[in-house]
Amino acid sequence: MSDAVPSHFIRDIILEDIKSGKHDGRVQTRFPPEPNGYLHVGHAKSITINFGLAEEFGGLCNLRFDDTNPSKEEVEYVDSIIEDVRWLGGDFGDRMFYASDYFEQIYQWAEQLIQKGLAYVCDLTGEQVRETRGTPTEPGTESPYRSRSVEENLDLFRRMRAGEFPDGTRALRAKIDMASPNFNFRDPVMYRILHAHHHRTGDKWCIYPMYDFAHGQSDSIERITHSICTLEFEDHRPLYDWYIQQLGIYPPRQIEFDRLSITYTLLSKRKLLTLVQDKHVSGWNDPRMPTISGMRRRGYSPEAISNFCKRIGVSKTNGTTELQLLEYYVREDLNKHALRVMAVLDPLKVVIDNYPEGQVEHMAAVNHPEDESAGTRTVPFSKVLYIEQDDFREVPPPKYFRLSPGREVRLRYGYFITCTSVVKDAAGKVVEVHCTYDPATSGGNAPDGRKVKSTIHWVSAEHAVDAEVRIYETLFAKEDPNDVPEGADFTVNLNPKSLDVQRAKVEPSLRGAAAGSRYQFERLGYFAVDADSTLAVPVFNRTVALRDAWAKIEAKA
Ligand code: ATP
Ligand code: MG
Repeated sequence: MSDAVPSHFIRDIILEDIKSGKHDGRVQTRFPPEPNGYLHVGHAKSITINFGLAEEFGGLCNLRFDDTNPSKEEVEYVDSIIEDVRWLGGDFGDRMFYASDYFEQIYQWAEQLIQKGLAYVCDLTGEQVRETRGTPTEPGTESPYRSRSVEENLDLFRRMRAGEFPDGTRALRAKIDMASPNFNFRDPVMYRILHAHHHRTGDKWCIYPMYDFAHGQSDSIERITHSICTLEFEDHRPLYDWYIQQLGIYPPRQIEFDRLSITYTLLSKRKLLTLVQDKHVSGWNDPRMPTISGMRRRGYSPEAISNFCKRIGVSKTNGTTELQLLEYYVREDLNKHALRVMAVLDPLKVVIDNYPEGQVEHMAAVNHPEDESAGTRTVPFSKVLYIEQDDFREVPPPKYFRLSPGREVRLRYGYFITCTSVVKDAAGKVVEVHCTYDPATSGGNAPDGRKVKSTIHWVSAEHAVDAEVRIYETLFAKEDPNDVPEGADFTVNLNPKSLDVQRAKVEPSLRGAAAGSRYQFERLGYFAVDADSTLAVPVFNRTVALRDAWAKIEAKA
C-alpha cells in the first residue's frame, strides 16, 4: 500500500482559489463539533481534512463549538473534545470559539431580517409547522401569521427574548418560499423558545437560534474561507447562502464531502450515547468504542488514525470503508514503534529437567528488530517456564512444527529444548511438559548447524508477572450494525464476544509499565497498557492482532 496521499476535489478548489486570489489567498477552515458527545473516528476524518488543509496552505483552522442546543450539551463533552483534537494534532492555538459567543450578534441579525420583512413570528406549534410544510410534490401552506407587520414581529420577537412566552408557543421563521422544491426554503425556523440553562450563557437566553441560522453566520464572523462539512448539509447550503446574502456579511464557501462509515462500526453520537447510557460499554472511552478516547485507550496512535484518514481521502458519494483498512494502519504504525516483549496468554508449564535448580540466566533480548536505537533488555530464564498451550501438541497434526514429544524447538532468546515426557491430570489433560535443553545452543543457534523448524516464546514461571489481558472483537457482530429486523434496534447486533478477559503471564520488564505504553507481545499481537493497570496487576488491551506473525517467525527460524 502506498503512502502517497492523492489530491482531492477540496484541495483542488483551494488551489484554484489561491491562484485566482480569492479570499486574498487566505485559507481559514474550522472544525465545528456540537458538544453533545465524544468525538469519534468520523470526526477524526473531518479534523484531518480541516487542520490538514490549513497547515498545508499556511492557513489556520479554528476549533468552534456549535453549541446552539443547550438541552443536549455538557461541559464534559467540551473538555473531551479539546483533549481529543489536541491529541490528534489539531493545532487551533488560541482560536477556540463558541457559537454561543455570537448569540447577541446572531440575535441582531434576526432583527435585521425582520426589519427587511424577511422573517416573522409564527404562533403555530412545532407540529403544525411540520404538517404545513407540504411534500416533495406539493407546496406547503403559508402560515396564517406570515403577513404580520414588521412592528408586530419585532415586538413579539423581543418579548420572546424577554421570556414572556412558554417553550414552543412561538418561533421566528424566515419568510422565503413555501413552494420551494428545497424544503429548507419553506419558511425555516430561525429561533425557538427554550427556557433551558446553557453551559456558557447560563440563563441569559430563553430563545436559541436553530443550527441553520447560526452555523453559516458563525463561519462568517470567523471569516472562514472554506467551510467544509459532510454531504447531508448540501441541501442546506442554499439557505446558508441566502441568509449571508440578505445580511450582506462575509461569505464563506461551503464544500461538502462524504461521511465516513466503517464496517462493524456505528458512527452516530446519538447511538454511541445509548451504548454508554444503557451500559453496553464501560463508557465513552471503552476500548471497543469508535471514539477517539476509546481508540486511544485501545492503543491506536494519533498517527495511525491520521494515516488512515489521509488514505481514505474525500469524495462526493457516501460509501463504507472496511474496518480492516483502519486496522492495517494501526498495525503498520505499531510495527514501527511498539517495543517487543514476551507474554504467555494461555500458560502451559514446561520443566527443563537438566537445567540446574535455582539457576537464573539473564538473556539479552532486542526491543525492536528494525530499530537498533530501541536497545536491548534482559529476560530471566530458569528451570520452570511457561509457554502457550497452543505451542504444544501431544499428537502433532501434519505440518505442526512446534513442541511435541521427541521434537526439538528453539526458545526465543534461549536454548533449543526437546520434549521428553508429559504429565497429565486425572482427566487426561496435559498439565506439564518435561524437556531437556542443549547448553551449547545458548543464544539460539546450534554449533553443529542443526536446524529447528520452530521458535516459540516463553516466560520464566518464577519471574513472570500475572497480568490481565483484555481481548477485543468488534463491538457489533454484523457488518452493518444498522441492519436489524423490523421493530428491533441496533443493540440486537451487539457482539456478545466483543470482550474476553484473560489471565496472562508476562515478562517482568512489564511490571509498572505506564498506562498508554504500547507493546508487541511477540507472536501474539499488539497490546497497550490500560488506565486500570496497577503495579500489582498490569492490565493490557489487545489493540490489534498480529496478522501472519506466525508465518513470519517460522520462516525466520
Ligand atoms: P453524529 O451524527 O455522530 O452526531 P455530527 O455530524 O452530528 O455527528 P458534529 O459534532 O456536528 O457531529 O460534527 C462536527 C464535524 O464533524 C462536522 O463538520 C461533521 O460534518 C463532521 N463529522 C461528523 N461525523 C462525521 C463522519 N462520520 N465522517 C466525516 N465527518 C464527520
Ligand atoms: Mg451535528
